[in-house]
Formats: sequence, structure tokens, C-alpha cells
Amino acid sequence: MGDQLKIACGVFAAINYENQPIFPYVYWGLRAQNHRGHQSHGFLTYSDGKFHVHRSLDLVPKIKTSAIQEWFGRLPGNLGIGNVRYTTSGKSDEKSLIKGTQPVTVSKNGLKLAVSFNGNVVNTFQVNKEIGTEFPQFSYECDAELICHKLIVGLLKGKDLSSAVKSCMQEVDGAFSVAGITQDGSFFAFKDPHGIRPLCAGHSPDGSTYAFSSETVSLDINGFIRDFELEPGEFVTVTKEGFKRRKLVNGERKAFCAFEYAYFARPDSRFDDKYVYEIREEFGRNLVRENLEVVKNADMVLSVPETGDDSALGVHEASGLRWERASRRHRYVTERAFLLLSKERQSTIDRKINILAPKIDGKHIIVTEDSIVRGDTTKVIVEKLRRMGAKKVYLFVTFPRIIGPCLYGIDMATYGQLIGSKHTPEEIAKIIGADAVCYQSIEGLVRATGAARDQLCMACITGKYPTPLAQKIADTMKKRFMEGHEETGRLYEIEELYEQVQSTTK
Ligand code: SF4
Repeated sequence: MGDQLKIACGVFAAINYENQPIFPYVYWGLRAQNHRGHQSHGFLTYSDGKFHVHRSLDLVPKIKTSAIQEWFGRLPGNLGIGNVRYTTSGKSDEKSLIKGTQPVTVSKNGLKLAVSFNGNVVNTFQVNKEIGTEFPQFSYECDAELICHKLIVGLLKGKDLSSAVKSCMQEVDGAFSVAGITQDGSFFAFKDPHGIRPLCAGHSPDGSTYAFSSETVSLDINGFIRDFELEPGEFVTVTKEGFKRRKLVNGERKAFCAFEYAYFARPDSRFDDKYVYEIREEFGRNLVRENLEVVKNADMVLSVPETGDDSALGVHEASGLRWERASRRHRYVTERAFLLLSKERQSTIDRKINILAPKIDGKHIIVTEDSIVRGDTTKVIVEKLRRMGAKKVYLFVTFPRIIGPCLYGIDMATYGQLIGSKHTPEEIAKIIGADAVCYQSIEGLVRATGAARDQLCMACITGKYPTPLAQKIADTMKKRFMEGHEETGRLYEIEELYEQVQSTTK
């Protein structure tokens, strides 16, 4: 269940070359990716040199049949980009959320740009300062605005689009997967030089439509064929003839987010040649191989639905233990913890999952969980299992112990909020009331993904950040945390501290 953790964004963008309206494709693309961001959503289409925009808070809505024509009228054109967002940067009051909803646009001196973005900018102040030279009044509500303005500043200086994108790749520290449209209807996408966040490309079987998407599920829902995952530092444009790929920045190591495999991506999404659920099943098999003594003492495996389901199958296969399907989600109890009063929070998590007491009474249970971040959600689940009569509760956690913050777009920004940053697995077991907490090893995780170890970002579990400024910031945050300074938020959003770190980085 991952402590209700949030990712920054999901991107979907498409163009049709038979002049068909693009809105339905973008709509379904975003519906399939709502798990990547549920605070706000937005659509932007392009026709006759104009951008048409609809942005709103909350999940992508269901559209009534009677309202379909109105949506088509509001969002005309054969080219469009969309975004679902959860804020990991900027402010999160309602007014700011509305202002920070993507896609974002910027225009100046006849130039226009719209982008949909997933990731997080680390050197915000530096990028902000450069933008201030062209846009003195600029103040941003989301990192997408930084990227969009950074690109247009390049264009205003006379660069062509690929050179402006290259400057962005070279000068912005952080994670960014971007799809965009220019004033003349050019359609493009690119990824940061480490390729931290996902972005793939695909096309319709009849060759009329081309698309970019954070996850393959959004290609599937549209009946599209997946072509490729964008390479780190790659810039891709689209014409009637298809995709044109150019690697603009070489030499950095690829660092794809390992947490996508364990938690964020939908199980039916595919990275390279593997479906995410297959990888999660292997996580379960690994956990059995790594914890044979615990397995010997267990009567059954139970999953925390639904992100623990695939690894529970793996545990069942490798151990022969029955996967007891005695934990189920109440399908329509969908309140999210952040919308509730804090005293309501725990009981809401508790209410979401039904556990069948007669099935677990007196039993020794292995519970599969995708990750432990703060530990509060897991604690509620363990308490509930105890109340229902479980004699022993062993947690099998597929993502290794999280010891540091993510500076690349996942909602875990400080050391203080991470139970694993200050406690051993034995201490964590005590705090959450389990008999043992067994994390998958880093080696096991890497092997199951099929990726090379040096091609993954695992900064939050190893403390080694792929970008230099992020490393410096994380080290400074850790030092201050150990010295007992209060963590008031993301260090890179506190100008004074950011300047301190910057000056020691040069
Ligand atoms: S720090 Fe962790 S969550 Fe963030 S990008 Fe790296 S692996 Fe993913």
C-alpha cells in the first residue's frame, strides 16, 4: 500500500494525421494513468495555430454521453497533450493546485509553447533566475512552468527547438519526461539525460496516430502498438512518416527509477520487455529464497491488496504456501487520506481493507507489502491482523528499506518522514507491531527487473543520487537531520540553504 505515496505526474500526448479529433485518445490515455496523479488533470489540443485548454482538479471525470459534443467543441484539433498531477513541488493549497495544473503554456514575441511534464527540477532557483531575465514577473506553481519557460527562453535567444531542448537537458538538474507542442504545431517529446522517469512512444495499427505516454497501459487502452521507450537525453519529433529520434546528450549514466517497478507503475504496464506484474512476482520468489527460516514457520501468505498481490503469487509459487485471499479491498471506499482530518486517517485506511478473521485466526502469516515509507499505514494493517487473531505477522516487503528522500518526483522529500532512515528492520518490526520485517535485497530487486544495476536510480535505498546537485542536497539534508535541525520541507525549495549547497558544489 506504500503509505498512500504519490508520484508527480502522468503524461499522454498524441497526433492524428487523418484529421480526426485527438481528444478521445488523450482522454482515455489519461484515464488509464490516473494512478500517477489524482489531484488535478488537464487537456490541451491544437488547431489553427491556437491552444485549447481544459484544466481541473481531481480525477479525470467520467463524461456523460450528452456532454460528449461539448467536450469535442471545447477541445478541437488533431493534436493534443494531457497530464494528471499530484504536486511534489510548489504549493498545495487549492488555488495553487489549480494554477499548477498541467499542461502549461507560455507565449512571448509570437512564440508559443505548451508542455506536459513528469518529474522534478532540483536546481529550481538557478533555472528561475535565468527565466527572470526574460520574464521579470515570473513566479511558478509547478516545475512544468520552469521547463516550459526555460525552453522558450532558449527559443527567444534564437535557438531552434532541438538546441533549446539540449540546453534544458544540460542545465536543469533533476528528472523530466516531457511532451510538447509549439505555435506552428510541431509535436515533440524528450527525457532528461539520466532517463529517470518513464516515457514511451507508440502508434495506431493503421499508422494514422502517434503517441507518447508515461506508461504502456495508455497505449493499450487506445489499441496502440508500443514502439520504444525514450532513451536518456533523447529528443523525438513526429511527422506523417513517424518518429524521428535524436540523442542530444550523451555520456551520462541511465538511472531509471527502481521504485516504478515496485510500486508506481500499473502491473499491466511494460518497461522494455517485461510486464511490471511479472517483475513483482519474481520479487515474491526472491523474498522466499532470502527468508527460508521465516517461510518454514508460516502457515499462509496474505497480500495487502492490490500492490501486494503479484508478489504474493510469487511467494506462493516459490514456497508452496497457500495464498489465502482473505484480504479484500472495499471497491467503492475511495476516500484518500489527505482529504481527511488527521484523527480520521487511520480508521479510513483500516476501513478500506476487509480481512476475514476466521481465515487467519491463530495462524502464522506472511504479508506481502510493496514498500514501507512512514510506516503508519503498515502499522494499521498489522494491528488489524492482530485484532483478527493472527498469531504471527511477518512482513515481506518488495522494495528494499528506504533510507533517503526522493528528489526526482516522488512524494517522500525529507529524512524525518522515512521510518527506514533512522531505524533498522528489527526496530521497524517493533514499531509497527510485526514479528519480523523482511525487505527484499537490493541485488534481488535488480536481478528481477532485468536491468543492469548501474542503469537504475536507487538513490532512496542506497543514498547514491545520479545527479550531482541532488547528491549534495541529500547529503546536506542528512547532516542537518542528524544534527537535529527541523526539516521544514524540501531543502531545494529553501533559497538560503540551496545557495549554501550550490556554493560548495562549484
Ligand atoms: S530516489 Fe527512489 S523513488 Fe526517487 S527516482 Fe530514485 S529510485 Fe525512484
